[in-house]
Amino acid sequence: MDHQAAPQTDEQFRASARQWLADNFPVSLKGGKYILPHTQEEGEKPGPDYLLWKGRIANKGWGVPTWPARYGGGGLTTCQAEILAEEMARIGAFNPIGGLGVMMLGPTVLEFGTEEQKLRHVPPIARGEIEWCQGFSEPGAGSDLASLRTRCEDKGDHFLVNGQKIWTSFAHVSDWCFCLVRTDTSRKQAGISFLLIDMRTEGVEARPISLINGVSHFCETFFTDVKVPKENLLGEVNAGWGIAKRLLQHERNGLSSQRNVANVERGLPDLARAYVGTDDEGRIADADLRARITAHMMRQHAYGLTLRHRNAGIEAGLEGSAQMSVLKNLGARVAQDLNELAVEILGIAGLGWEGPGYSEEELELTSGWLYSKCFSIYGGSHEVQNNITAKRVLALPSA
Ligand SMILES: Cc1cc2nc3c(=O)[nH]c(=O)nc-3n(C[C@H](O)[C@H](O)[C@H](O)COP(=O)(O)OP(=O)(O)OC[C@H]3O[C@@H](n4cnc5c(N)ncnc54)[C@H](O)[C@@H]3O)c2cc1C
Repeated sequence: MDHQAAPQTDEQFRASARQWLADNFPVSLKGGKYILPHTQEEGEKPGPDYLLWKGRIANKGWGVPTWPARYGGGGLTTCQAEILAEEMARIGAFNPIGGLGVMMLGPTVLEFGTEEQKLRHVPPIARGEIEWCQGFSEPGAGSDLASLRTRCEDKGDHFLVNGQKIWTSFAHVSDWCFCLVRTDTSRKQAGISFLLIDMRTEGVEARPISLINGVSHFCETFFTDVKVPKENLLGEVNAGWGIAKRLLQHERNGLSSQRNVANVERGLPDLARAYVGTDDEGRIADADLRARITAHMMRQHAYGLTLRHRNAGIEAGLEGSAQMSVLKNLGARVAQDLNELAVEILGIAGLGWEGPGYSEEELELTSGWLYSKCFSIYGGSHEVQNNITAKRVLALPSA
């Protein structure tokens, strides 16, 4: 692997990252983005330059820049990773390695896994070779996740899993699933274990569910007499709840990132000039809309600064799960505002979600607006995050 020792100062790092990107990022990919596994399935296949770029980033460890080099990461500090992201954005580059393994499972295995589990599972995630899905929610266990009932029995040389998960994003295109299972029915949180399940195991079935925006990215997942090797248990039997809480913290952290929050590609002022028009002074013609776009951009900027502050806190070892809940709600609101404004700006051009009569950008914005409704549901709903904030940040009494 081509892991360089990190240069000493941030400015030196910026210069070397800039040079490396100039030498290695294929210009044909400028303005492109990470291709999600399910869209690959639907026909958006990565081309040769995408695969070349992915290979180069993987060799450098920069798909997961802050993970240790021993497990395929870049060994960078949070601050250096931020500089790298800025330098990528500056030239229209992007990180071609992502997914739930990067956002959630990798950091969790690094914290709770045995050395063998780390070496087995983390490097393939760092190289973008293995897709993971999250088997947490069940038909009777969403916000009250600890009510989950998927049964896991110890059969001596293996575990036997039976049950159903729901809303399992990307299950139909995933290689592996990190799954919460019940190993003790007499205790709620303390009867849950954390299992890693190979999706190709006999008895695993993923059935896709259609979303409001027409896309189908998540599934109902069924486990029928699924045999799971003992070495696929993360942590101890019945100790899965603590691991799951930590993983959810990583999920909320990832969901609240600037990249996820600023998901409208063309800036709002540009869009408004094109669809609403300009006045004699070249300003967006509608004064009220202009004011609301300005207010949104200020919030977006303030949110970006808050994230930077959070990153500095992580660097100093001050990471806290409850704070992630505050950020998750804030980020969801900012992103939903952005999508609302974008569709409002489109006017009647924002009414279609498929078929002729609409440009690709218009269809994407409308679909993005519909999708943005889920920002306050996935990763734990808005109300549930508020409950966590009330309890753990504000220390308010529980009912
Ligand atoms: C796009 C998307 C992707 C997802 N991907 C995955 C995935 O990959 N894997 C996975 O396991 N899950 C996934 N989920 C599921 C997600 O985690 C749950 O939808 C979420 O936790 C809410 O659970 P629920 O849908 O069962 O709603 P419920 O728990 O039934 O909640 C319904 C409503 O009641 C409110 N509510 C519930 N309890 C309280 C309370 N105590 N106080 C105040 N209000 C409350 C909620 O806020 C919500 O508004 C995904 C969801 C979405 C939308």
